[in-house]
Amino acid sequence: MAQHPDVAIVGGGVIGLTAAYELAKAGFTVEVLDRGPLGAEASWAGAGIIPPGNFERAATPIDRLRALGSVGMPLLASELRDRTGLDTGYRRCGGIEFLHPHDRDVLELWEAEGFPFDQLTGDTLTQLEPAAAGFTGEPYLLPTCAQVRNPWHVRALIAACEQLGVRLRPDTPVEGWHSVGRRVTGVRLSSGATVAAGTCVLAAGAWSETLLKPLGQQPGVHPVRGQIVLFHRPAPRLQRVLMAGKRYFVPRDDGRVLVGSTEEPEAGFEKCPTAAGVNELLRFTTTLIPGWAGAEVEKTWAGLRPGSADGLPYIGSVPGWDGVLVATGHFRAGVQLSVGTARILTELLTGRPPAVPVEAFRLDRPPGCATQQAFRS
Ligand SMILES: Cc1cc2nc3c(=O)[nH]c(=O)nc-3n(C[C@H](O)[C@H](O)[C@H](O)COP(=O)(O)OP(=O)(O)OC[C@H]3O[C@@H](n4cnc5c(N)ncnc54)[C@H](O)[C@@H]3O)c2cc1C
Repeated sequence: MAQHPDVAIVGGGVIGLTAAYELAKAGFTVEVLDRGPLGAEASWAGAGIIPPGNFERAATPIDRLRALGSVGMPLLASELRDRTGLDTGYRRCGGIEFLHPHDRDVLELWEAEGFPFDQLTGDTLTQLEPAAAGFTGEPYLLPTCAQVRNPWHVRALIAACEQLGVRLRPDTPVEGWHSVGRRVTGVRLSSGATVAAGTCVLAAGAWSETLLKPLGQQPGVHPVRGQIVLFHRPAPRLQRVLMAGKRYFVPRDDGRVLVGSTEEPEAGFEKCPTAAGVNELLRFTTTLIPGWAGAEVEKTWAGLRPGSADGLPYIGSVPGWDGVLVATGHFRAGVQLSVGTARILTELLTGRPPAVPVEAFRLDRPPGCATQQAFRS
């Protein structure tokens, strides 16, 4: 590793780590700085749903970014396994989404995008997923819906980064920037030391806004708490991800099931499960699957999603500054969007045209320009 890395990444969540991995593969020397343990925030807490996608036909930039994840995540999973021997938990388990009449626009987006989906009859639904008999709405089977197991996915990314010579620095809080004129030349640590770098990348998740402020940007990145209830092998068992609006059930291979999630911007940076949040998820569960009323709750937890003003991420340059890029605000979709985000950052740093137009994700976009998205969970 050169004394000064080509790239210093602030934040070792799934966004920072995937970017570090791709940039190191592209030949950059990379350093990742995290104020705590690596990959222990939203990227650990999430449910890991990877919805389907079709890059060629996706209608909007955000749907194209998601499609890069849908296609790229299985490749990343097998690459990480080859390099490290670690399983990310990537499984193309399929999913069932329950739609209501007001969700017609979502169906139109799916049709336009052209990934496989099938409307199920009540009988087929109960054959496929007996536990889902009590769900309301029209069930649609999404055979290419997939999942990763978040703690496994970040663990494999960390190991692969280490193997590629990325300098990983947990417990290293970044306090600000070092700049010369309008060029960011490094990061300032809370210890007072500076890490000089050719380019700095801000990927500090829900905490990004404080580091954007000194660069004259206040896009409104904010924490949105999401709680999860983990059931220990409830019966009847689920095979597929079940999605009902913003709520979902994600079955793991070992029979455990994650039920999520709440959306609580009012909680600020308070990251603990609450009686009200857990109660809401338990009520949701037992209303839809009454047979699970006696199931064992193994664990509950919460994470802070990096919310943005309009639900879309911020990816690309910082207006008025050289030497710094941003990749934050991925809200409910940071895992599925991580592959595309890392690709865009690598393209920007290698001077290639980005696969997805980054205009849509610029920091200074006008408010209210977000478009309809094909998935809500
Ligand atoms: C309950 C829940 C369910 C979810 N389900 C899904 C899902 O099914 N599919 C999906 O795609 N997404 C899902 N998400 C969203 C996804 O988890 C996030 O969008 C994603 O993890 C964001 O990644 P990140 O790297 O930007 O942020 P984080 O993982 O939060 O990482 C940011 C890192 O920056 C570090 N940091 C902060 N400030 C500093 C500083 N000053 N100096 C150094 N380091 C700093 C933090 O310590 C942290 O490690 C879910 C999220 C939650 C909470």
